[in-house]
This record gives sequence, C-alpha cells and structure tokens, in this order.
Amino acid sequence: MIPYKHEPFTDFTNEENKKAYQEALQKVEGYLGQDYPLYIGAEKVTTDDKIVSYNPADKEEVIGRVSKANRDHAEKAMQEASAAFESWKKVKPEIRADVLFKAAAIIRRRKHEFSALLTKEAGKPWNEADADTAEAIDFLEFYARQMLKLKDGVPVESRPGEYNRYDYIPLGVGIIISPWNFPFAIMAGTAVAAIVTGNTILLKPASTTPIVAAKFVEVMMEAGLPSGVLNFVPGSGAEVGDYLVDHPKTRFISFTGSRDVGLRIFNRASQLNDGQIWLKRVIAEMGGKDTIVVDKEADLELAAQSIVKSAFGFSGQKCSACSRAVIVEDVYDQVLNRAVELTKQLTVGNPTENHFMGPVIDQAAFDKIMSYVEIGKEEGRILAGGEGDSSKGYFVQPTIVADVDPKARLMQEEIFGPVVAFAKAKDFDEALEIANNTEYGLTGAVITTNRSNMEKAREDFHVGNLYFNRGCTGAIVGYQPFGGFNMSGTDSKAGGPDYLQLHMQAKTTSETF
Ligand code: GLU
Repeated sequence: MIPYKHEPFTDFTNEENKKAYQEALQKVEGYLGQDYPLYIGAEKVTTDDKIVSYNPADKEEVIGRVSKANRDHAEKAMQEASAAFESWKKVKPEIRADVLFKAAAIIRRRKHEFSALLTKEAGKPWNEADADTAEAIDFLEFYARQMLKLKDGVPVESRPGEYNRYDYIPLGVGIIISPWNFPFAIMAGTAVAAIVTGNTILLKPASTTPIVAAKFVEVMMEAGLPSGVLNFVPGSGAEVGDYLVDHPKTRFISFTGSRDVGLRIFNRASQLNDGQIWLKRVIAEMGGKDTIVVDKEADLELAAQSIVKSAFGFSGQKCSACSRAVIVEDVYDQVLNRAVELTKQLTVGNPTENHFMGPVIDQAAFDKIMSYVEIGKEEGRILAGGEGDSSKGYFVQPTIVADVDPKARLMQEEIFGPVVAFAKAKDFDEALEIANNTEYGLTGAVITTNRSNMEKAREDFHVGNLYFNRGCTGAIVGYQPFGGFNMSGTDSKAGGPDYLQLHMQAKTTSETF
C-alpha cells in the first residue's frame, strides 16, 4: 500500500497547467444545462420538478438541472438504503476501501474537469477549485486507508483462558447533508466516510451546488459501488431534510452547514419517533468566527498577508475564514495599513478569468453580506471595499472594517463573506481574551515570534484548529484534522484519525475456553 500523501496543488503559473485548465473549462461549458436524475436504489429517477443550478458569476447561465426529491422519493430511498445495509455491512472493509481508491483514481484523471465545474457552479477561482478537488481526492485516499487500519478492531486485554475482541461495526442508514462552500470535498468526504465504514446513505447536497454532487455519484457508480448504498436525493430542507432527519430508520446524520440549521437538526434528531429503537447520532460541522491574533513581536508582513488571504480567499466563504483580526496596539496601525494596501491590489471578477476573488454564492448571501457592510459603517471605519454589485453575478469587494469593538456584531456574528473586522488589544493576553469571546471555536491563528506567547495560545486559544505563523484556512486532510469546539459543531475532526469511528459502534466479544 502506498502511504497516504495529500494530493498536490496545481501550479497555475505553469503555461501547460493554465492551458489544461482552460480546456477543462471548455469541456464543462460543453455540457452545461444538462439534466441529472435522482438515484434511488438501482433506479435513476427523473422528476418534472427540478433544482436549477446557476453560475453565481453570471446568473443567467444554467449549470444544470437535477431532479428534485419529494417525501415519497425520500421514503423510497430510505427503504432502499435500509435493504442495501443488510448486504453492504457484510462486504469486507477491503472491498469497500477499494471502491474509494478507484473513485480517487477516476477523479484524479479528470481533476481539472471537476475543478472547472466548481469554478462554474460555485464561483471558485482556479486555485480554490483545485484545492477543493484535491481535498475530495484526499478524503477518498485517507478514509480508505483509515478503514483498513480499523478493520480488525482495536486490541484489548484478555486474561488467561479468555479471548476478548473490540470490533467496530457500522451504524445503519445515514443522512448526509452537505454544504455549497466545499461542494466537492465536504460532500464527498462526508459521504464516503459513512460508506467505507459499512453504512448506506441518502445524500442531500446543497441546492446551490448539486451538479458536482451528481457527477460524484456517477463516479462512485463507475467505481463499483453497489446500488442502494448511495442514494441521491437533492431536495428542499423543509420537505426532504426534515423528513429524513425525523425518520425512525435514520441512524445518524452527518451535516455541514450553518449554526441555525445544525441546531435544528440536533434538536429534531433528539426526538423519538414511532418505531425508532435507537438514539440518533449527529455529526455536525457548523460555523466559525475565526480570529488571527497578531503579537507585537511578529513578522508584520506575514501577519498582513495571512489576514488578507484567510479573510478573502473564496470570498470569505469558508467556515475557517478569518473574519476578525485582533492586533496588539503597538503594531496595530502598521498591520492594518499593510492589509488595506494588499486588499486594494486584489481583483474581483469572473472566476473563469481567474481573479483572486469570484462572486459570493447567491442573492441571499449577497444581501446578507451587504447588510453587514452597512453595520460595519456604524461599528467601525471601512478602509477597503464596502461595495457590491449583483447586476450580473454576486460580486462583493473585499472589505476591511477598522477599529471595531470586540463585542460589536461584526466581531460576533458569522457573515460568511469577504468582510474582516480589525480590533485593537492592549497586549497579547487581552488579544487572546478577545479571540476567545465568541460562541464559536473553529479556527484561529497567532502570528508571533515570542515562544512563551505561542505556548500560552496553544493552551488557552480555544479553537479546534490553531495555526502559528500562517493563515487560518486550508487544513489538509490527514495533516490538520479539521473541526471546531462550542457552536462550531460536535467536536468531530474531518480528515482525522478518529473520524471514521463516529460512523461506527464498537462491539465487545468475549470468549472463554
Ligand atoms: N477545511 C477548510 C479549511 O480549512 C474549511 C472547511 C469549511 O469551510 O467548512 O479552510
């Protein structure tokens, strides 16, 4: 077995890679507007009702149409998944892992095509799309290997005359509700973690990015996944989402998305429904309000670069994005001024032309972000950006709001867009206190050359992913397992050594002889 190594990113300064990406964009443009079915058991189902996916950079352009599941489809898919579970749970872990390895190989061969589709469907600039595809491949490669490590369980002690085992067995049918911001990586990662551990699933992708999910389902079928293991049911949260979360046969729910939807799922999943004989498990990755702290002893250029990249990469639409920069007062002006300078150099435009920033995902996101820009005008000083234009696509300028109070809304509420608030701290201890003053705890970064402050942050900065002397986005599967504390979710770590166990239950067997 080749040891796991993360999929390398593409260097787009290389002309050949540039050309390959442009060709991939053309290829994707050649199949825009197609219809995609639901997958329910062995059947591909086409409905009249569709979810239409649009290009957020060019809202007239239709990326594709997927059939839209209603409750009857969801019920049928649940029955198929339940039936398929009886055989899939008995398929050897090695064979389940092989499906993932094969899917990774198929995707790797079509890597730029998938990324180009992300550029069109999610508005991702090339490097962001490339990273999303690479991460999808990483999840497949990593979880397949993790399953092989866990397949014989974990050793436990035995006394003389006794043989004890501790084995992991699958849970049952899982509902996978995936987000639009990593419409490939997180969608595929959460789906295959559940599948490789022997569960069967119903996959409900985000309604703004269902086409990449439909393409992924095709790949999994091509890789040899038996029918009924992965059922594809795009649909509305209110109709299909709630129905499936409530369903007595649902054993677990793996959700990535907003805090509010996460809480709704957590609450509903705790209710016992007729015929239900278990407590549902919820794996949730929710929001963030992530901070970069800058110490007075620090590489200030690195600080400004890290803030700008983490705040505005993919238009700030990452749970991990830096939305707060907390800077010790001695160096506040310097870092702020440099960040403003760097931000003014960024270009915003159609991601097919590979600008630093593309659009935000849809009108609702645009409106929400612009309303926070207005709040920013009250709560601080806008030093860069502050404008948006949704006439052709949903473009928001990268926005810096300076001198914001640590308790202000801009410092507390998740905006999920290219807006970063700067706050001043009198010293490093106060900076850490401010960093910890939200209800979230997902990512954070500390820029410092002071070892004792670094160690203080290692202990006291309460986030699931803490980075030193770099930005706070871009966790790599297997290297920086990803997931946060408090309102950021259920403390799970995607791409980590104990993620698969969340999709299984341990069985102790003890034999005496
Ligand atoms: N894993 C991504 C990162 O480290 C963020 C994922 C998310 O936004 O949910 O940047």
